[in-house]
Amino acid sequence: CGIIARIGGDDDAVDELLTGLENLEYRGYDSAGVAIKNGGGPEVFKREGEISNLKEALSEEVPDGGLGIGHTRWSTHGPPTDANAHPHTDCTGDVAVVHNGIIENYDELKSELRARGHEFESDTDTEVIPHLVEEELAKGADPETAFRATLDELSGSYAVAMITERDHAVYATRRGSPLVLGVSDGEYFLASDVPAFLDFTEDVIYLDDGDVVVVESDDHRITAAGGETVERSVQTVDWDP
Ligand code: GLU
Repeated sequence: CGIIARIGGDDDAVDELLTGLENLEYRGYDSAGVAIKNGGGPEVFKREGEISNLKEALSEEVPDGGLGIGHTRWSTHGPPTDANAHPHTDCTGDVAVVHNGIIENYDELKSELRARGHEFESDTDTEVIPHLVEEELAKGADPETAFRATLDELSGSYAVAMITERDHAVYATRRGSPLVLGVSDGEYFLASDVPAFLDFTEDVIYLDDGDVVVVESDDHRITAAGGETVERSVQTVDWDP
């Protein structure tokens, strides 16, 4: 139901992701999770229930890392359980994905992936996404190409954010679900809604439906639905009541 991503040069993603998730609580949720990256593959922490359950899971071992994605889930496919909470990963654990909305053709995609040897750990529609990306990466695609090829397979309405073991970047898109980009000094945020990152920045780029965005620590690139690279202006929100 709520997506947050944070890309920065330091090692402090976890705290800001948790703040972002708490700021998204008003949207309603039944589970929460984060994936943090620090050089290697994404480390996933996720729990059914309140964000306090997730915080408890993180208290034993606070992962360092400047890059991460987070999610508050409002179940549509599969009950609220730890396994069904996002982020979801592929077979290798190298790809982590958070998703809002519904993948309409997930059943068909899951059967095809199973026939090609993939095993699934959740009942969600979401889990097909990292597995499709995994296949593209295995064919030699870079993460951006793999992400785009995967989006071409999906029908439904969704916002998605992905990190991989390969690089220090977040790949994201919105198609029928909201997603905004927050711009700060040396940091970027992606979220379902502006309040998620207002503690950190008031500078926002509103993404259009169909946009694909690649965000690195010091740069971002947006491609519109037609495939052309576009510049979208930064707006400063005046959020005072
Ligand atoms: N359809 C996905 C699920 O059931 C995402 C739900 C959401 O938007 O939170 O896990």
